[in-house]
Amino acid sequence: GSPRIAHVGIAVESLAAILPFFRDVLGMPDVPMSDSDGARIAAVQSGESLIEFLEPATPDTPIGKYLAKRGAGIHHICVAVPDIEQTLETCRSAGIQMIDQTPRLGAEGKRIAFLHPKSTGGILVELTEQ
Ligand code: ZN
Repeated sequence: GSPRIAHVGIAVESLAAILPFFRDVLGMPDVPMSDSDGARIAAVQSGESLIEFLEPATPDTPIGKYLAKRGAGIHHICVAVPDIEQTLETCRSAGIQMIDQTPRLGAEGKRIAFLHPKSTGGILVELTEQ
């Protein structure tokens, strides 16, 4: 099939303020996540995808700086690919700039890599393995 959206990452001021709406009002089950890149992360399941809420641990983290500059909202989308090494190689060949040259471990415990928004129309794109 086509690469699915693994998750959408949304920068928020407060996990406690947003989680009850998605979990209790919309009925999306919550999924335990580990903290990553100076962000506290909570997630809810939406079909085959997650919505990840990213709350900065401190203002000087990447999410903290993002929130200060742009406010709450969609921070990145994560696309699941069958072979992350191969997709990174394809991106490299296509001249796409990368934030992560090689995969590293993400909040879901899977290998991830971020592409540079300069190369992707201003949208921060994360790749992960299926
Ligand atoms: Zn992500």
